[in-house]
Parts: sequence; C-alpha cells; structure tokens
Amino acid sequence: MSILLETTGLQVRYGIVEALPDIHLAVEAGRIATLIGPNGAGKSTLLNALMGALLKPGTSRGAVRFAGEDIGALTAPQRCERGLCLVPETRELFGSMPVEDNLVLGAYLHRKRRDRRSADDLEKVYALFPRLKERRQQEARTLSGGERQMLALGRALMARPKLLMLDEPSLGLAPRIVGEMFQVIAKLPDDGISVLLVEQNARAALRVAHHGHVLENGRITLEGPAADLRDNPRVIDTYLGLS
Ligand code: ATP
Repeated sequence: MSILLETTGLQVRYGIVEALPDIHLAVEAGRIATLIGPNGAGKSTLLNALMGALLKPGTSRGAVRFAGEDIGALTAPQRCERGLCLVPETRELFGSMPVEDNLVLGAYLHRKRRDRRSADDLEKVYALFPRLKERRQQEARTLSGGERQMLALGRALMARPKLLMLDEPSLGLAPRIVGEMFQVIAKLPDDGISVLLVEQNARAALRVAHHGHVLENGRITLEGPAADLRDNPRVIDTYLGLS
C-alpha cells in the first residue's frame, strides 16, 4: 500500500496554547483511516491544519506531503484542486441556494470545471443519495440535519477527491441516518477515494475504518489496525463503553 498523505512534526499553536505539539500521521491510499478521541483533543485542528485551513497564518508548522508532493505552502483551495478535500463539521452550505446548485458549485469552486463530467458526477451523487435528487430544487437551509450532511458529503465528492477528510459526519444525526452515512463512507474506497474520518462515534468509526488513531491532548497515543483497536481494553473502556 502506498502512502497518500503524510505529515511529520506537525505543530499547531493557538497563541500560547499548543494544540498539537508534534503529529506524525500517514494515511494509505485506498483505505479508510479514522481519528478518534475526546472533545478538545485536537481532531478538528488536525484536519484543518492538513487542509491548510487554519485561520491565522503561522499557527501551523511541519511537513505535509500529499500524493508525493510537498503541499505545506499551498492554500486550502489549491490542496482541494490536487484532490485533498475536507467536509468541515460546520458543513458550510450555501443556504439560500437549491440543493443542486450547491452540488454543482462543489465541482466548480474546487476544480474550475463545468464540463460534461460534472453532469455524470451529479448523477453519481444522486445515486448515492436519492433523497438529494428528490429535493434538488429545495433551498439547502430547509434541509434536515441528515440531508444537510448528505449534501455536504455529496458536494465534496463533486470535486473528485483522492482523499476525503470528514469531520464528525454523524454529529447530530438520527441512528438510522448514521447507518446510511457510514454505508456510503464504507464504499468510497471502491471509487478510488481514500478517507480520513474524524468521529466521536468511535464504535461506528472503528467498524468502517481499516486503520485507527487515538488522539488525546494533542498527541496520538495509540494507533493500529481498526480491528486491533476495537479489541484493545483501553479503547473499550474509554471509547466503546460496555456494550
Ligand atoms: P471536538 O470533538 O469537541 O470538536 P476536537 O478534538 O476537534 O474537539 P479541536 O476543536 O481541534 O478539538 O480543539 C483542540 C483545542 O484547541 C481545544 O482546546 C480548543 O479549545 C482549542 N482551539 C480550537 N480552535 C481554536 C482557536 N481558533 N483559537 C484558540 N483555541 C482553539
């Protein structure tokens, strides 16, 4: 397996707070990696740093390589153009625009491409999420939480990512919708899309992922095949509960 994304010595500071002191992380091509950990551990910070999306320049240091290229100096849109895309926890949809315009903008903004392939991509997204097709003329702000998350994921897929980073895709969703969402995520590698998944729902994340990392207090304290983490007593105690 080849490494698609790799970071060494990644540091993030917010003023005097060292959110991530020294992160070394590698994500393999064709796989789903997950990052689990408690609130405030630095999971979103890590995704934002990998995306080049931290608000203040200079808050992040360290090397980031993606598909064999040093992308450390690139902006978030430039990283997305190369195939590294993020669905943030905030979803960031265009609320007053219809569902379909949000999807088309996903292709346009990130790839500057409005060719026929976008129409094919749109049909693919509608095949994954038939509910979005039914609601394609509806304003995004009127969608339910689950539909908004489907739209955010669908819009990111329109940019044809090589690696999709998902920040808490199950947040606030009903259990049935969480199941649907994870089924879609599980199939992404079949379409050549690798995944880095940040989740509070450790049980679901470790079920869908091939590899897992535990982030605590800004440090990766445990990593390994997801199946091993599922059986690890400390992971069971802290993140999986008794059931
Ligand atoms: P959650 O699961 O609750 O979303 P998380 O693991 O994603 O948590 P982060 O949001 O990355 O954690 O936050 C890591 C730490 O950095 C927290 O202590 C948070 O308060 C702090 N932090 C995050 N963003 C900023 C910011 N813009 N300015 C200052 N501190 C920040």
